[in-house]
Amino acid sequence: MKIKLIKNGMIVFPERSEPLQGDIYLDGEKIKRIELKGDKSKKPAAKATFKKDEVIDATGMLVLPGLIDMHVHLREPGREDTETIATGTQAAAAGGFTAVACMPNTSPPLDNQESVLFVKQRASGCKARVYPIGAVSRGRAGKEMADIGEMVQTGAVAVTDDGSPVHDAGMMRRALEYAGMFGIAVISHAEDMSLSGKGVMNEGYESTRLGMHGIPPFSEEVCIARDIILCKYIGTPLHIAHVSTKGSVELIRQAKAEGVNVTAEATPHHFTLTDAEIGKEFSTNLKMNPPLRTQEDVDAIIEGLKDGTIDAIASDHAPHAPEEKEVEFDQAPNGIIGLETSLGLVATCLVKPGHLTWNEVARKMSAAPAKILRTPGGDLRAGAIADITIVNPKAAWTVKVDKFYSKSRNSPYDGWKLQGKVKYTILGGEISFEG
Ligand SMILES: [Zn+2]
Ligand SMILES: [Zn+2]
Repeated sequence: MKIKLIKNGMIVFPERSEPLQGDIYLDGEKIKRIELKGDKSKKPAAKATFKKDEVIDATGMLVLPGLIDMHVHLREPGREDTETIATGTQAAAAGGFTAVACMPNTSPPLDNQESVLFVKQRASGCKARVYPIGAVSRGRAGKEMADIGEMVQTGAVAVTDDGSPVHDAGMMRRALEYAGMFGIAVISHAEDMSLSGKGVMNEGYESTRLGMHGIPPFSEEVCIARDIILCKYIGTPLHIAHVSTKGSVELIRQAKAEGVNVTAEATPHHFTLTDAEIGKEFSTNLKMNPPLRTQEDVDAIIEGLKDGTIDAIASDHAPHAPEEKEVEFDQAPNGIIGLETSLGLVATCLVKPGHLTWNEVARKMSAAPAKILRTPGGDLRAGAIADITIVNPKAAWTVKVDKFYSKSRNSPYDGWKLQGKVKYTILGGEISFEG
């Protein structure tokens, strides 16, 4: 059933500074008209009568442009036991997302036209839009360039070797040059493997105390510095994924001040958890790459989100099977699922303490990803696609991973009490999730 009217909500326009009460009229897959309360400049439209189930009463709710998660691992093809495009998009809808961009480290990887087409076909009819991101190099092996042009023609919205860095600086240079020709961004998983070595957590006080191999913060920063320098010469948009250190935030801030074409994202786990958690229970759900850092880094990321250095919030949703995670800490794969906890964590840990406003959330979780990937969405205006997320900012809830739509359960947030919950996710004018 197509929704025709969302009435009485507090509309969170990303381009404004505070929510405004009003009604949103939809027409099929598009937003038809917005009527703000008390706006006398527009004459009211003829009173239309709608059926009960065509109207959502959003009194007391926030109405945001549909959330877009620009960094998600969907695991199909290859690891359908941990996630599929169908289950991942269902989890996305439950988390308030109307679109996700999926990373190419599947098996086989998304490094050619056929694989990008496969993802697009699998995604059709699913609960969220899926924008494939192609690999930079064939097989993500870092040796030969992937067919970037053909992938873009088929619908790839960016390129990255995420899961791994582009180790070879010459390859990164050519990736930026090619991507520039097709008008897309290169996304950098910034890491120098020769510095990360056998590291399994942040290098610092905690890793020394626990006797574990550490990944130093400068493993990330050295690579960001390199990529910023290349971007400065080549000019193609560079996007830094999952920023985790204070030094990285400073590098990006400085580059932006110099006018370098760089954007960045941070994940909820990098602004809600520190490496001090690891010693408490050695849960492998605290193992990720980049690793959880220190409180100083967390504070710097929050500062970067506040001052606009970090443009976007993305989950880096990384599903793994229980038997893979139920091993010794150093043997476990990296990553956690995040689609169904992102918004609650943002609401609870960023909005509630006053770090971000809801309008800034609409920018970082919708408008900025749409702009960086050049996709539709991120917009609440007449004529825009009717992808909308309705949030109850007061609703308190407890994270229960066994109730998640994702096929995987690897989340460190089980049992966390959050405030701020998705009430409706609307995709192309239709309800894709109701909470
Ligand atoms: Zn990565
Ligand atoms: Zn990733």
